[in-house]
Amino acid sequence: MENKEITVTSPLLPNLDDFIPFLKDIWDRKWLTNNGHYHKELEKALAEYLGVEYLSLFTNGTLPLITALQAMRVTGEVITTPYSFVATTHSIWWNGLKPVFVDVDEETGNLDPEKIEAAITPHTTAIMPVHVYGTPCNTKRIQEIADIYGLKIIYDAAHAFGVRINGESLLKAGDMSTLSFHATKVYNTIEGGALVCHDAATKKRIDYLKNFGFAGETTVVAPGINSKMDEIRAAYGLLNLRQVDGAIANRKAIAEKYRAALKDIPGIRTLKDSEGVRHNYAYFPIFINEEEYGMSRDALYETLKTHDIYGRRYFYPLISTFSAYKGLESANPANLPVAHKLANQVLCLPMFADLDNEGVNRVINVIQKKK
Ligand SMILES: *Cc1c(COP(=O)(O)O)cnc(C)c1O
Repeated sequence: MENKEITVTSPLLPNLDDFIPFLKDIWDRKWLTNNGHYHKELEKALAEYLGVEYLSLFTNGTLPLITALQAMRVTGEVITTPYSFVATTHSIWWNGLKPVFVDVDEETGNLDPEKIEAAITPHTTAIMPVHVYGTPCNTKRIQEIADIYGLKIIYDAAHAFGVRINGESLLKAGDMSTLSFHATKVYNTIEGGALVCHDAATKKRIDYLKNFGFAGETTVVAPGINSKMDEIRAAYGLLNLRQVDGAIANRKAIAEKYRAALKDIPGIRTLKDSEGVRHNYAYFPIFINEEEYGMSRDALYETLKTHDIYGRRYFYPLISTFSAYKGLESANPANLPVAHKLANQVLCLPMFADLDNEGVNRVINVIQKKK
């Protein structure tokens, strides 16, 4: 029997018939982009859903990172994590700033707050942590350090859509947070993203920056960029927002099945849920201890492929090993032992809202049998 391919992720798609009336409406209005009707509606709806006051839509999840650094006039050095998607560090580089890598916490993969202070120099002006896999960073401890040294904090919250702690949005932490609505994420607008800040004046500045710096027909207040979301994707986003809670509930059920089946396999570690946290199950990473499991991460990755199951090694290789960054002093592997360990152990299993029972069982079966 031929097996159906199981990819690591699959996009959450709105119902096509529901989308058609939105398209007709856009055609009637003939207003395709530049803060249109659906753009305004989606900004409002997302702010409400996420529980934040000030949110600006972007055309992807990388430009809000770049723009956040611009908006806050960050200079010099930015402390960040090597255990992320490359866009995190690229955004620092694109601002002409120096990324400084700090090691991560083994349990979560997030920036280890206890290692931040040693990396601070007179040139440090900001910290850019990532809520990896949607697991909240230790935001309280990071804020304490930032307050002592007068640093800004920009969270790359690309994985953390809808994550709340004791009912409060995780996006309230730090000075700004960025989101990605790429097709592979928990919530998508095909390509898209957002920048969350905490006051009206800052939102106004962000909105200028994402529209070339225009503050009126003939006034340009800053060297801005073009990062506007169009009406078609905004309408698509409104429709997808209606089903995202259902999608997160399905992801949770899948995570529970995986955890129950994998908990007794020696050498396989999964992430835990934390008390009071509304997780989004953006990814399902497992960490493989080769000695205890009896098979390497890469061997399991290849074995799964022979069954048409495509996991992904997020995040391997580490950002600090790429040619643009490996010459930095902070990229020395001796400075990042935990990040290297996780990068060599991690495998993200298929995780998406409509992954069915049969698919989950197929994945579990291969991990149990190791063949
Ligand atoms: C996806 C992602 C981004 C970039 O988002 P795009 O929408 O693809 O530009 C940035 N940071 C992290 C951690 C991501 O996973």
